[in-house]
Amino acid sequence: MPVTKTHPVAVLREAYAAGERAMGENKVQEVVEKATELDDLPDLSWSLIGHLQSNKAGVVAELFSEFQALDSVKLARALDRRLQELGRSMDVLIQVNSSGEPQKYGVAPAEVADFAVELAACHSLRVRGLMTLAVFSDDTAAVAACFRRMRDVQTELRQTDAAAGSYDDLSMGMSGDFELAIEHGATTVRVGQAIFGPR
Ligand SMILES: *Cc1c(COP(=O)(O)O)cnc(C)c1O
Repeated sequence: MPVTKTHPVAVLREAYAAGERAMGENKVQEVVEKATELDDLPDLSWSLIGHLQSNKAGVVAELFSEFQALDSVKLARALDRRLQELGRSMDVLIQVNSSGEPQKYGVAPAEVADFAVELAACHSLRVRGLMTLAVFSDDTAAVAACFRRMRDVQTELRQTDAAAGSYDDLSMGMSGDFELAIEHGATTVRVGQAIFGPR
């Protein structure tokens, strides 16, 4: 998935012309503005890959087709309520804090199964899988350990009867670590700088 945050719409038009249709962004307001400027592009879609506060759930339900950073039940319910009002549904991934760093968002690996059971009540959310940001480090073993933890969480979810949805998608890997992520089973890599240059 091309990550187009901070880049002007001209860059997104180039990506679109090259065949990309789903753009990864991390700020709601930025997408509100870009979507207006790009509303002439058919089937362009937006994936929110960054943290979201519940009070913005309404805009997200209207504008985005996917949300990759779901990490709270309160937010899930707010999104679900708004989607039901709109008669829509949305693909979501659960963000997992695979590195255990306190400053990172995401559900702790040991808590993902319980979280997924709670999501089963949110019928407008189509739970597709898991997303993570690995530890940012040159230590390949430490990065790989994050990716392996994601596979373990995925395996556990598949054995949890009451968990919502499917868990086939593993969104992990960015410009600096996408090859390693693919080796460890990533189905989506979110790549910004390696495609578009520095931000
Ligand atoms: C910015 C961002 C990326 C892409 O990072 P690059 O280093 O530019 O590839 C991936 N995932 C998330 C959640 C991001 O915020």
